[in-house]
Amino acid sequence: MISLEALAEKAIRLEPPTRDEARAVLATPDDDILDVVAAAFRVRRHFFGRRVKLNYLVNLKSGLCPEDCSYCSQRLGSKADVLKYTWLSTDEAVASAATGIAGGARRVCLVASGRGPTDRDVDRVARSISAIKADHPDVEVCACLGLLSDGQADRLCDAGADAYNHNLNTSDATYADICSTHTYADRVETVDLAKKAGLSPCSGLIAGMGESDQDLVDVAFALRELAPDSIPVNFLIPFEGTPLGGEWHLTPQRCLRILAMVRFVCPDAEIRIGGGREIHLRSMQSLALHVANSIFLGDYLTSEGQPGQDDLQLIRDAGFVVEGAAPDDPHEGHGDAHHDLVRPRRRGAGTGEAANA
Ligand code: SF4
Repeated sequence: MISLEALAEKAIRLEPPTRDEARAVLATPDDDILDVVAAAFRVRRHFFGRRVKLNYLVNLKSGLCPEDCSYCSQRLGSKADVLKYTWLSTDEAVASAATGIAGGARRVCLVASGRGPTDRDVDRVARSISAIKADHPDVEVCACLGLLSDGQADRLCDAGADAYNHNLNTSDATYADICSTHTYADRVETVDLAKKAGLSPCSGLIAGMGESDQDLVDVAFALRELAPDSIPVNFLIPFEGTPLGGEWHLTPQRCLRILAMVRFVCPDAEIRIGGGREIHLRSMQSLALHVANSIFLGDYLTSEGQPGQDDLQLIRDAGFVVEGAAPDDPHEGHGDAHHDLVRPRRRGAGTGEAANA
């Protein structure tokens, strides 16, 4: 039996757990889930207080990817019923980013499907980055365009990009099981290129693809070695029409243990609950905020999230604050409209309408 208290103490000293300890976190019984969350919360609070960073996804180019990542609704041969469109114009990208920023986001993530950008694509994205930074100098812009070639990260940096995202997704040992068109090493190389160019590296994982506890521990330690500033922990969105469409392995408790394990391994990294938050954590989302310090606001790349207002309510209800919001910011307030929460019953007993059960 591991001592969660000792793991928290070590994490606060920036000492990693052993791999056995990390595996043991994943193996804790559901009965102990509050202890796991409480220990991880000590670490989260030490490094990030009660702040929650809001990130907003803009899908610049959707679907029609030539790569075959099996978890992805935009992959080659995907039958998933997702939007397919080519590059948004600069004006469209700027308008979409502005919507997220108005909703409280402090980072905009500009994402495009594809193996990697051409130099022309980089120029196009650079124009959007410059335009967003001109309108919102305090907002971070992260690009996520796939595998980078030499010089492309520098050009994104010159355009004003703050960060670059490229996820490792799973362990080196199982990468070939989820993708045959590029390698784990390709992904590591792109994160390194982004770092060398001075972009803040963002790299994370996807859980729920049938991986073992060992795979999750391996990818968490690989991320620790890569030292990204931010780590999205995605929970598989099993889209029908993709090879992993039937993979529903995650429980809310499992998601919490995975987040906690990553928190212990990478204590001072921004840990972001990525895609799949609503469908896998469901009513346990607020517990997850005690472990992670960052979420996406609103929708994901090809699937809808809960309404952005519900994300803000979740943060307020859990007693957290949106990072970067001023105290009088409407995103911090408790709103004046609770009246719509009280609805007179008009169904069930005493009515001709079906009951709510
Ligand atoms: S490269 Fe990106 S967009 Fe293409 S299939 Fe893989 S994850 Fe999806």
